[in-house]
Amino acid sequence: MSKIEMKTPLVEMDGDEMTRILWKMIKEELLLPYIDLKTEYYDLGLEKRNETDDQITIDSAEATKRLGVAVKCATITPNAARMDEYHLKQMWKSPNGTIRAALDGTVFRAPIIVKGIEPCVRNWEKPITLARHAYGDVYKNTEIKVPGAGKAELVFTDENGNETRELIHDFKGSGIIQGIHNTDASITSFAKACFNYALDTKQDLWFATKDTISKKYDHNFKDIFGEIFDKEYKAKFDEAGITYFYTLIDDAVARVMKAKGGFIWACKNYDGDVMSDMVSSAFGSLAMMTSVLVSPSGVYEYEAAHGTVQRHYYKHLKGEETSTNSVATIFAWTGALRKRGELDGIKELMEFADKLEKATIATIESGRMTKDLALITSMKDVTVLNSADFIKEIRNTLEAM
Ligand code: NAP
Ligand code: MG
Repeated sequence: MSKIEMKTPLVEMDGDEMTRILWKMIKEELLLPYIDLKTEYYDLGLEKRNETDDQITIDSAEATKRLGVAVKCATITPNAARMDEYHLKQMWKSPNGTIRAALDGTVFRAPIIVKGIEPCVRNWEKPITLARHAYGDVYKNTEIKVPGAGKAELVFTDENGNETRELIHDFKGSGIIQGIHNTDASITSFAKACFNYALDTKQDLWFATKDTISKKYDHNFKDIFGEIFDKEYKAKFDEAGITYFYTLIDDAVARVMKAKGGFIWACKNYDGDVMSDMVSSAFGSLAMMTSVLVSPSGVYEYEAAHGTVQRHYYKHLKGEETSTNSVATIFAWTGALRKRGELDGIKELMEFADKLEKATIATIESGRMTKDLALITSMKDVTVLNSADFIKEIRNTLEAM
């Protein structure tokens, strides 16, 4: 059987720890035997980032802009402990943060649904994709602890030195204040990424804020989404048979709990942080959650939502057996390959991506899975496999197909 040819390379971003081990196994067992895999390889493993003063991360983001599609392995975000462990020159920034900033992207997270791993919310039949705005609000705040009586004001000084003032509070005693911001440019990018992704995946889009209480701040989000939708997307949505639905955040939460799923839920930064953890844990496991960063210019970066699974890696280093779930990392590859196939008009590549996903799901549904899934499945008599054997079983299923 001849291998599937590719035209444009994928940007391949290698990573750290246990996911780096899985990365290699996935390539060797599930991709290289079937595809004449073309990638532009960037090693985002922490050692290489330290060696290159993190230039490699910036280069990989630039390559993604140039080539259009990337697939990324989980990477360590350095903290104090990692400084010692890897003898780092600096506490390098999170690669995901760097890449997100370079691509000006929005992150979409969606669960992978399999029979036998039922979501806690019984009526969720289809995935709920969460789109989180990744800039500003409370994540870029300025705070003051007010020590005692005094007046707090919000002051904006324009380029000519003209001031606009609003009273926040006339304090009679101690308290707290906080200043937050966002920009129209960032909200516009977020809105466009959401509308494009909805069209791309043919799913309805929901968006919610607290515009009844926050009549300028949150209302601005609502207005920007509404204006862009009416001007640029309404006709396309009608044609695709999908809808854009705006409501209040509390109403959205109530409706989500009763919905069947199968839509995209766009959230402001904080709502997205909180709700994505709720949605992913209710769907079963972080190891079954995919993540794709989409830029307003139509550049895509696919990855698993989980981290480098450090605890399993240390076991692996000690020579102990691990049962680490590779599903989200496999789906990062299939997502990237399918998108590459779509952009380059290579039907075989798109079909291969579909097949590999089907083989992965079929393997789990036949009762062969990693430990994290065995712990939460409703299936009886399942076979718990180690990291390598699970990938080999997927290969067997794929061969049989
Ligand atoms: P993690 O790697 O997501 O793992 C946390 C725990 O979740 C694991 O110990 C494991 O539980 C379970 N788990 C996660 N993925 C799994 C999988 N594929 N299969 C089976 N179990 C899985 O988070 P972390 O341990 O907090 O972070 C480790 C490193 O990852 C950190 O250095 C962090 O900076 C980095 N990180 C990177 C990204 C990214 O690149 N996108 C995202 C998050 C974190 P048990 O131990 O109970 O089996
Ligand atoms: Mg969170």
